[in-house]
Amino acid sequence: MNEYDSNRIYDLTSAIGFIKTEKKEEADCFVLNTCHIREKATEKVYHEIGRLKKNFRSSKKPLVIVSGCVAQAESAEIIKREPYIDMVVGPQSYHKIGDLILKYERNKKKINETEFDVIEKFDKLTKISNLQNKISSYLTIQEGCDKFCNFCVVPYTRGPEYSRPFQQIIDEAKDLINNGTKEITLLGQNVNAYNYLDNNKSYKLSSLIRELNNFKKLKRIRFTTSHPSDMTEDLIDCYKDCNKLMPFIHLPVQSGSDKILKLMNRKHNKKFYLSIVEKLKKINEKIKFSSDFIVGYPEESEIDFKETVDLIKRVGFVNSYSFIFSPRPGTPADAKKLNDLTINQARLKELQNILEGFQIQNNKNYLKKKCKVLVENKLNSGKQYFGRTEYMTPVIIQSSKCVPGEIIDVEITSFNQKNLFGLCDNNQELVA
Ligand code: SF4
Repeated sequence: MNEYDSNRIYDLTSAIGFIKTEKKEEADCFVLNTCHIREKATEKVYHEIGRLKKNFRSSKKPLVIVSGCVAQAESAEIIKREPYIDMVVGPQSYHKIGDLILKYERNKKKINETEFDVIEKFDKLTKISNLQNKISSYLTIQEGCDKFCNFCVVPYTRGPEYSRPFQQIIDEAKDLINNGTKEITLLGQNVNAYNYLDNNKSYKLSSLIRELNNFKKLKRIRFTTSHPSDMTEDLIDCYKDCNKLMPFIHLPVQSGSDKILKLMNRKHNKKFYLSIVEKLKKINEKIKFSSDFIVGYPEESEIDFKETVDLIKRVGFVNSYSFIFSPRPGTPADAKKLNDLTINQARLKELQNILEGFQIQNNKNYLKKKCKVLVENKLNSGKQYFGRTEYMTPVIIQSSKCVPGEIIDVEITSFNQKNLFGLCDNNQELVA
């Protein structure tokens, strides 16, 4: 979502005359769009500011703006601690960034803008064209979360669930498609909770997928990130008859232990999660899954950990993200006693080995077979292209004739854990 937000911040600043530069030393303004999910996010901002200060020691100080979830969480505190920062803008206020920059240029007074103006934000963003011209683009449809998992900061930094108006999203999708986009990933912190009410009619994520599926020039549809308890029947049904909806779902489970899921306040248990996986597989056997895992959550025992391992083996996730639990300030889990770090590290290693095994096996299964790849761009060598399979696996294609935006058959000749390598036409084999 930060990538989407950063692109929109660029659209908003270009509306007041700013242009992007690759030469950092020439910039008049820096926007650090931050994420608060990972550990030490705030410290990373201070380090980045330290680097800026050093680089601009003997030249004119640029305007320095910190936006995103760290800005929201730290608010005025961040300016107090680091006076080199001129402005703090929360993720639900960045639509004002153009006006705020102009205000700062007039008054030269520090600005702290961290209100939750999410409706106003999307009204404003709708009036400024989305200038993204990528083959694969993101489109935010929903923000915030009402689930309040005990380890997560999102409900505090992004605020309560908000679903953008249906037509607003469709109009933005049309802009993207007219700019050359062939694949749209619908975004939300809780994307499958999307629910927009208009004149007593309810529009769900499934309504959006079905509408987008009709756009002739659009080739692929994805969505992320989903919560298991919002995988409703209407959404599952889309996998039966929406041919552009890719058979790959990122469905975070976090743990396979019912005790830990309860302590996390995840609102689903292992049995329910597996029943969703089963329903999806039944409706479309091609579907594969990825997930997020938190290892070493407070009170996780060896038995709880083995429950997670069991779940991984039953689902066979093809790609996942896994981390040792680290507390986020202000969340209920922050007050809990941490588990032994050595045990946590050993568990993470074991879990990641199993996940890697599934990922490698999945890639190996492609060997000497043809797969459908959406070509995204040419690589620097000039004789290779980058694309992705239906399952998001990166593919390096040996060819001098690919056309970005086309879906082509690629014969896979080698692989490593994360990538596939292959041929189209009669070009030479690539070596991993
Ligand atoms: S559902 Fe996702 S975004 Fe919402 S609180 Fe839980 S982990 Fe955070």
